[in-house]
Amino acid sequence: MNEIHDVIIIGGGPGGLTAGIYTSRERLSTLLLEKMTCGGWPNISGRIENYPGFPKGINGMELSAKFKEQAENFGVEIREFEEAKKIVPGEGLIAVETAKAVYESKVLIIASGSRLRKLGVPGEEELTGKGVSYCATCDGPLYKDKAVAVIGGGNAALEEAVFLTRFVSKLYLVHRRDEFRGEKILVEELEKSEKVEFVLNSFPVSINGDDFVNSITVENKATGKKQDIELAGVFIFVGVEPNSDFFPGAVDLDRAGYVRTDFRMATSHPSIFAAGDVRSGNVRQVAAACGEGVVAALSARDRLRKLKGSSYGR
Ligand code: NAP
Repeated sequence: MNEIHDVIIIGGGPGGLTAGIYTSRERLSTLLLEKMTCGGWPNISGRIENYPGFPKGINGMELSAKFKEQAENFGVEIREFEEAKKIVPGEGLIAVETAKAVYESKVLIIASGSRLRKLGVPGEEELTGKGVSYCATCDGPLYKDKAVAVIGGGNAALEEAVFLTRFVSKLYLVHRRDEFRGEKILVEELEKSEKVEFVLNSFPVSINGDDFVNSITVENKATGKKQDIELAGVFIFVGVEPNSDFFPGAVDLDRAGYVRTDFRMATSHPSIFAAGDVRSGNVRQVAAACGEGVVAALSARDRLRKLKGSSYGR
């Protein structure tokens, strides 16, 4: 006999945990499955300065811990290190399969988030963990007084570059255009640093090294000229991809694989809702993911109210 809940939430980031706070306050039995530990992106984001209520900013892990504590206080049953492997929308109940069990619920909220995109150049895979990194907060201090490159021109690349300037002796910011996608305030901060050199209109063609990274080769888009830059580390932030591969066909996705929803966070399946980074049109902001979690939870509650025969509440 499978465990049956009113609501299953997939993903323990800001969107999923906020949804859980709301569904559990509605006294709906709520199971939250998280493949790692709860928190999502804030866990590796260092300091978060744009989440309202913390005028001096807050450490990402601290914020995650507060979200989790609040969800648990209201009764969300959280299972960490339990990855949803498959969603099977059935007649009435929706099944979620993990390596340990099959769980069923009347409504489902998908808040499975996103993962970092790979650059896809020679050397990247082989040298990951040997000079290639996707997390400045985790690895930055290892590059004290060394030269590194940051690849990308979005907020992630700019924020992580600002953080890295605390440690490194030199930082090459390699971006494929001459305009940045990320916030101007961050670009201005980098422009002020003597350690930072902008390598614009350029993209990496290879990351080089035997046991450890010792250089990258970048190509200028306009001239086609290639140059080798000697350095010890390469930090890659070229965007993200949705964690939606584990539920093919369960709900409609957009061309990039993000879950399509309406303004109520409703998907193409009447009992499945989505929130946060996995959702088409998301803006990858903690505050926005929380807001979407609220809407998804209240829409899920309304759906339960409508479902005939659903035993509403505990
Ligand atoms: P992003 O905004 O999509 O930026 C990705 C960057 O990587 C772009 O500059 C892009 O260049 C470049 N890029 C993509 N593919 C590339 C390739 N193959 N080779 C070289 N460069 C490549 O991604 P993100 O920075 O991860 O941010 C994603 C979202 O999260 C954004 O909405 C961002 O605002 C948000 N975010 C917010 C914060 C914050 O507010 N504190 C922090 C981090 C992220 P082009 O510009 O030419 O496309």
